[in-house]
Amino acid sequence: MGLQDIRNLSLEELVQYVRSVDENPYRATQVFEWLYKRGAGRFEAMENLPLGLRERLKKNWALSNPVVVSQAVSHDGTIKFLFELNDKERVETVLIPAASRKTVCVSTQAGCKFGCRFCASGIGGWRRDLSCAEILGQILHVKNITPGGLLSHIVFMGTGEPLDNYDNLLKVIRILNAPQGLHIAARRITISTCGLIPKIKQLAQEGLQLELAISLHGSNQETRTVLMPVNKKYPLDDLVRACRDYIRATKRQITFEYILIKDLTCTPRAAAELGQLLKGMLCKVNLIPYNKVEEFLYEPPSRRDIMTFQERLKALGVHATVRMPRGRDVAAACGQLRHSASF
Ligand code: SF4
Repeated sequence: MGLQDIRNLSLEELVQYVRSVDENPYRATQVFEWLYKRGAGRFEAMENLPLGLRERLKKNWALSNPVVVSQAVSHDGTIKFLFELNDKERVETVLIPAASRKTVCVSTQAGCKFGCRFCASGIGGWRRDLSCAEILGQILHVKNITPGGLLSHIVFMGTGEPLDNYDNLLKVIRILNAPQGLHIAARRITISTCGLIPKIKQLAQEGLQLELAISLHGSNQETRTVLMPVNKKYPLDDLVRACRDYIRATKRQITFEYILIKDLTCTPRAAAELGQLLKGMLCKVNLIPYNKVEEFLYEPPSRRDIMTFQERLKALGVHATVRMPRGRDVAAACGQLRHSASF
């Protein structure tokens, strides 16, 4: 077996390692800063470490960087990266630049188990979880090529279900959050989930001020099950109850992602059901006009139907915004990411 990647270690684990080789614990902070603040891709670059420690690190740990197989730039500035991992699995990552923010959309698994019927990521099934190092590697690559090296927001909305890779996800978030790490506030980190109720309950107890986005996509049990098979295991009513509990425990607002598909989810009945479901909840709804995936037959609704749907929700007291698609021309928009594409 090869060496483990050093980016799989939390700061506490790095301190333990440094102690175990009779070095002062502050060396762990230095290594951490090199890895995350300064984006070092090689141990040799860590100039303020004693030569002996640099050599020891090289002997004990791997420091691998994901390989960019290709990248595509959208006319709106969105950049999609296709990375190849050590075992040849491929994942996609997207940089979404805007005037006031730079957001990276990150993958947490190669493929996905949950097979939502509108999403390209689940088509080839699930291959494996990504390690912390592989998740962080995507973010660090994008950071290193971004002018000024400043990323403002991280969204775990790429390939895979983040909460299905819970331990690695939480470790990554703590590294992103740490002042000695990337120092990105938890409020600027969004986890998107298809609704794994036990994990939502666990997340509520972590004491993190994260943004939680729930992929809702159906306004009743039947429609949601058609679009999201996971709804059979974690039914809509139970999910909404878990969300209400989450809000109560964290005092944080939840975002519901809701896909607008012509004649299916974008109907007057669906708007009324959604209004009823979310009544009085500290939440907002992101309306996502369906982005075409060639394997599925669904169609996006007209602009007029989208606006009418939004108005109906507003009349029912539910705050909803329409998410403008980004990177659609390079298949980087919501639901279009794949785990082993080439472009
Ligand atoms: S929407 Fe999320 S959970 Fe569903 S198939 Fe796509 S990546 Fe998996």
